[in-house]
Amino acid sequence: DVTLRKLVKRYGEVEVIHGVDLDISDGEFVVFVGPSGCGKSTLLRMIAGLEETSAGEIRIGASDVTRADPADRGVAMVFQTYALYPHMTVEENMGFGLKMTGHAKAEIREKVREASRILKLDDYLKRKPKALSGGQRQRVAIGRAIVRGPEVFLFDEPLSNLDAELRVDMRVEIARLHKEIGATMIYVTHDQVEAMTLADKIVVLRGGNIEQVGAPMDLYRDPDNRFVAGFIGSPA
Ligand code: ATP
Ligand code: MG
Repeated sequence: DVTLRKLVKRYGEVEVIHGVDLDISDGEFVVFVGPSGCGKSTLLRMIAGLEETSAGEIRIGASDVTRADPADRGVAMVFQTYALYPHMTVEENMGFGLKMTGHAKAEIREKVREASRILKLDDYLKRKPKALSGGQRQRVAIGRAIVRGPEVFLFDEPLSNLDAELRVDMRVEIARLHKEIGATMIYVTHDQVEAMTLADKIVVLRGGNIEQVGAPMDLYRDPDNRFVAGFIGSPA
């Protein structure tokens, strides 16, 4: 499980996350929604260990990882596709993290093969990112996370720079990936359809606090207030 307890983030004098409590079960698909600046990315980056936690506690499984190194948390963040290394092939891009942490070549190859099978990238391993479509690049970015075998995947608006048609395809891919590998996934999006279709649980954030948490249909049918209804209700 992932447990957040009274999580606070301050940048200097300014507090942007005000004491967030959240329980996420193993294998759950959790989607963070909320207006720009409400703290979605900050919260995700704190879980990833890319931002220091000012106060409170983050537990993953049995461990308190609040102060742990990002590499020791059992999490992997899926970055947007522009984070691929342009001079490396697909295979090298996917294996790079493992290479840096000193894994054996044979083991890296094995893990990259497995990830490319899951993502249907087998035929593209020798290509460079510029010779791939947007969707294929996004798969490589996801592949980089898969090879590390994390307990928890973190996605920050992974589909936001894809065109509408591709977004639908990739949304289906991500749902399939979740089903196949069964890891916990925490996913930030502005897209109501993504939130409604992917989530086991939606977390609505507002100004650094959780406004409401629930299953998509529960929030849809029974929002606590107009703010939540505005996010989950009929498409704007
Ligand atoms: P968006 O939907 O636009 O991506 P978000 O919900 O992801 O927004 P965050 O990026 O988490 O929002 O930002 C939360 C708040 O923290 C914002 O008010 C932002 O200005 C502030 N913030 C983020 N990073 C920093 C920083 N490095 N220094 C100071 N303030 C920051
Ligand atoms: Mg953000």
